[in-house]
Amino acid sequence: MTSAMKTTDLLKIAKKYGDPVYVYDSEKIISQFNRLTNAFNGVKSLKLNYAAKALSNITILRLLNSLGSGLDTVSIQEVKLGLLAGFKPENIIFTPNGVSLEEIEKASALGVQINIDNLSILEQFGGKYPDVPVCIRINPHVMAGGNSKISVGHIDSKFGISIHQIPHLLRIVELTQMNINGIHMHTGSDILDIDVFLYASEILFETAKNFKDLDFIDFGSGFKVPYKEGDIETNIEELGKKLGNRFNEFCKEYGRELTLAFEPGKFLVSEAGSFLAKVNVVKQTTSTVFASIDSGFNHLIRPMLYSASHQIKNLSNPDGRERYYSVVGYICETDTFASNKRINEISEGNILCFKNAGAYCFTMASNYNSRFRPPEVLWHNGKAILIRERETFDDLIKNQVDVKDIFETIKEKVSAK
Ligand SMILES: *Cc1c(COP(=O)(O)O)cnc(C)c1O
Repeated sequence: MTSAMKTTDLLKIAKKYGDPVYVYDSEKIISQFNRLTNAFNGVKSLKLNYAAKALSNITILRLLNSLGSGLDTVSIQEVKLGLLAGFKPENIIFTPNGVSLEEIEKASALGVQINIDNLSILEQFGGKYPDVPVCIRINPHVMAGGNSKISVGHIDSKFGISIHQIPHLLRIVELTQMNINGIHMHTGSDILDIDVFLYASEILFETAKNFKDLDFIDFGSGFKVPYKEGDIETNIEELGKKLGNRFNEFCKEYGRELTLAFEPGKFLVSEAGSFLAKVNVVKQTTSTVFASIDSGFNHLIRPMLYSASHQIKNLSNPDGRERYYSVVGYICETDTFASNKRINEISEGNILCFKNAGAYCFTMASNYNSRFRPPEVLWHNGKAILIRERETFDDLIKNQVDVKDIFETIKEKVSAK
């Protein structure tokens, strides 16, 4: 295919739609989806449920729906967005954490698969709707991540029902006569080690044996993608072989063909995204050279929130001499995107490109400093398609109630003094 994105395409997009701007390459999303599917081709029934929270633009959701993906959702709003994007309710799984019984009831009424992650709600939901099939989220207490900020499988994690509580869980299921049709885990957002993942999977298989009517086992996500040169990437092909074989073995043992489910976010969309921003100021201090861009953590918070390292390229001067820069934003806070990065020489007005800007970038953007959230553009079949407009001043004030007349008396009091 010759429709792969080039530097000149990105620069044209920045020119046409302004900066900053998010750009997503549909081809990369499609190839990642196919890669994951192919890695598990030894399994009879595979279900990928794209984690909407990574990148929830409705056109991106439509793309994934058209590929045959299901949708993993964490709020009733994401459920509704999925339905609006054309997902069938039975292809949506609702995997929230700490939400109210009412929200779970609403999602269930829309016909989506419910996944419950605590015993209190399980007992209440099971008591009220014993006929609705429910998946349960198990916490196997395995640390599959390298970064403690994003590993959720450990003992003090708020996610999932502890494997140590299985006896209590079984008692609730027995007393309510509810139907458990799936077992789920999501151990964190960075699987470094396939063996750790397989170890956690054994705990899931062991748990699964307690339930007679399962349709699927959901292994969550946490596939690692490379963010910087030399980064380790989950060996999906190896995981596919090893887990696939073990899964098939388990199904024999279990006596029924089950569906193997995953809910990847980052793996599918991270590398497809680029974030383009313009350098407003190059500022030399006694210790460093700052490149200040027309953005901040209001648009891209991962570097500040997770110490995530996004590669930064200077699109305007790709062959320039490399120098060390600290790339910072224009927000009135410390908003350092990167320190001491080697980047092709930067001049004011240059366009910088942040790589891996597909997952948890736009969806975490805010209006801090009363700035607009940027537009989103999809690169598809060699064409740039606007899929979200830049916000305007009207968007900023849309929901504000501008109460004008209640302070009149204050003025009178002040002037009376
Ligand atoms: C966020 C989330 C995912 C996606 O994780 P990635 O690291 O983006 O693949 C999957 N499952 C659940 C329950 C999640 O909360």
